[in-house]
Amino acid sequence: MITVIDPEAARRALATRNLACPEPGCTGRLRVWSKARPRPVRGRDGRVQVIRPDRGRCRACSVTQVLLPAFCLPRCGYRVEVVGAVLLAAADGAGYARAGAACAVPTSTVRDWIRAVRRSAPALIAHTSWLPPSAPDPAQAWPTPSPRLPGLTAALHALGTAARGLASWLTRPDPPAHATVTGIDYLALIARQHRHEVLRRLRLAAPSSGAGHATPWELVTILTAGRLLTGVPG
Ligand SMILES: [Zn+2]
Repeated sequence: MITVIDPEAARRALATRNLACPEPGCTGRLRVWSKARPRPVRGRDGRVQVIRPDRGRCRACSVTQVLLPAFCLPRCGYRVEVVGAVLLAAADGAGYARAGAACAVPTSTVRDWIRAVRRSAPALIAHTSWLPPSAPDPAQAWPTPSPRLPGLTAALHALGTAARGLASWLTRPDPPAHATVTGIDYLALIARQHRHEVLRRLRLAAPSSGAGHATPWELVTILTAGRLLTGVPG
């Protein structure tokens, strides 16, 4: 799976074979493959949008990749903003029923989401440590949950802080490429390689398009590589 912020831009990049394969160690490029199955995604207003994500297949390793928009989570029928609203309500002390009521999410689903995040809270917090450092921005306020659920609260704080840093990092221009590898050019090359490695690890495509418009919870999808509810990779 690859996360895309702007599906149209990612589709164009896929069509022109400008999407790199995200598999570790693979240097292949993706080519257009058959679309993924349709999937309904419910928003906070209850409306259901049926999307059919693009897919690409690597010519080198033959692995297929679903290009999933950042507002989606794999195997989840709700937009990530719905999941986020429920998690924040629970961290603020709401029970399962009340946390899900505002977004019309069944109690059993709310329970599963909260248990999943609480269970993986240490891994989520650890996962944020390798991301680009946060640049504090008072304009991007992140709700502060109460400390009634320490694991959940700590995970949301870590994700919120990392999301702010990621937003700042994604909107920076790519470090310039240089023909020579000397002095400051070498530093630029290292910065460029580091940026590409971070993007590969995030499994993020076409980051320069739409990055500035990603919502906080879409950023959380990106920084967890879509695994907010299923456990982040080690
Ligand atoms: Zn590949």
